[in-house]
Amino acid sequence: MAATTYKEIINTLTQLYVEDDRPWLVGFSGGKDSTMLASLIFDAVLSVSDAQRKKPISILCTDTRVEIPAISEIVEGTLLKMQKFSQQNDLNIEVNLLKPPPEQSFWVNIIGRGYPPPNRVFRWCTQRLKIDPVTVFVNRRLGHWGEAILHLGARRAESSTRSQTMAGRETRNSLCRHPDLPRVWISNPIEFLTTEEVWAYLLQKTNPWGNDNRILYKVYTNASNGECPIQIDTSTPACGHSRFGCWTCTVVERDKASEGLLAAGDERMENLIEFRETLLEFRNHENGWRDSRRMNGNEGPGPLLIKGRRELLKRLLKLQEETNMMLITSEELLLIQQLWKSARDPDDGRGVSRILNKQRGVVMNTDPIELNRLREMEEEVAQELGIRSDTLRRMLNKVEEYGESHRAHGLPDDLLNILKDDLYIMIAQEDFPAIH
Ligand code: SF4
Repeated sequence: MAATTYKEIINTLTQLYVEDDRPWLVGFSGGKDSTMLASLIFDAVLSVSDAQRKKPISILCTDTRVEIPAISEIVEGTLLKMQKFSQQNDLNIEVNLLKPPPEQSFWVNIIGRGYPPPNRVFRWCTQRLKIDPVTVFVNRRLGHWGEAILHLGARRAESSTRSQTMAGRETRNSLCRHPDLPRVWISNPIEFLTTEEVWAYLLQKTNPWGNDNRILYKVYTNASNGECPIQIDTSTPACGHSRFGCWTCTVVERDKASEGLLAAGDERMENLIEFRETLLEFRNHENGWRDSRRMNGNEGPGPLLIKGRRELLKRLLKLQEETNMMLITSEELLLIQQLWKSARDPDDGRGVSRILNKQRGVVMNTDPIELNRLREMEEEVAQELGIRSDTLRRMLNKVEEYGESHRAHGLPDDLLNILKDDLYIMIAQEDFPAIH
């Protein structure tokens, strides 16, 4: 029977806790559904005796590094309270705030690799910023555990798409296999609750860890409702459909959460909303910031041109100064510098440093003598190989980039694309050696 009342849900969770020894993972985004889910999980654990509270439970929350500031402040505060409450009561519940590594951050992908700001068709961000950090964490834990149960706050009433996806999943004892992680079983304890039932529960009761949910309700009212749920796989509906996401989100037509927070007096949002418009400007290929060839060499809107990436970095650094918020780290800046060296129309390896120097008076560590020596050697080798020195430099930088991230998958394709670019330029310049 479907668990449709709060008490029944807690009882079902308690039974699963006691009778099944697999560890639990709990998706938490800070929104209403996952807050209710976490609250029910805490209550279920509190309802068993101290001696039985042995199951390891990991609360998983993602931070894309471009979260709306007010939302991430609330979420981080909540996670701290959860952790403290768990320790005080020996609940064996740990919290984990998972972030994408710097080489996959929003800015490194856009300003470094030249990815266009995401839209519904090319929504590259969810995988890199949300799904991958969770997958990495879960796989690491599964190495110790073998199998685990992942509780999610997904509800059928959220949307007809969600309802169809959930109804179509095969379940065993109310659990269904994770589509990408076969040793993870998904549980959706609040699957059949309506939005009204969720709010009724949250507003009648303080969370076990002490948060009053009226604050959350106020944020929702200010932000015009909606949330970007924790993403666990690509079949989870687009977080771009909802409105609690990244302040940089260009998947939604209007960022109502940011606008709502500004209207409610959060002045930080004014500059951030304006910058989101800048991202839209750069995405629109008619504005001249994007290459007219795709990464694979085909005709069509391609990556941001180096001039576009430079301009965007300048504007981002300006925004950082204006808002006094840490928006981009030194590590990301170094990665961007590295990536620019292997772009089409590559940078000389000092472009980021020049921008920083000009805008902030900060000097990045690059040695010009060493760079010149390397440049001469590259010219010689390129001549011997019969390719352009720019092409050789791009290829070497690409290999270095992969070496730094300790992976090789995708490298041959990337090198091939660089060679295709070389051929394209040679033909365009009629520099191509005659074939006899
Ligand atoms: S909120 Fe928008 S930008 Fe952020 S991960 Fe989701 S779709 Fe991408």
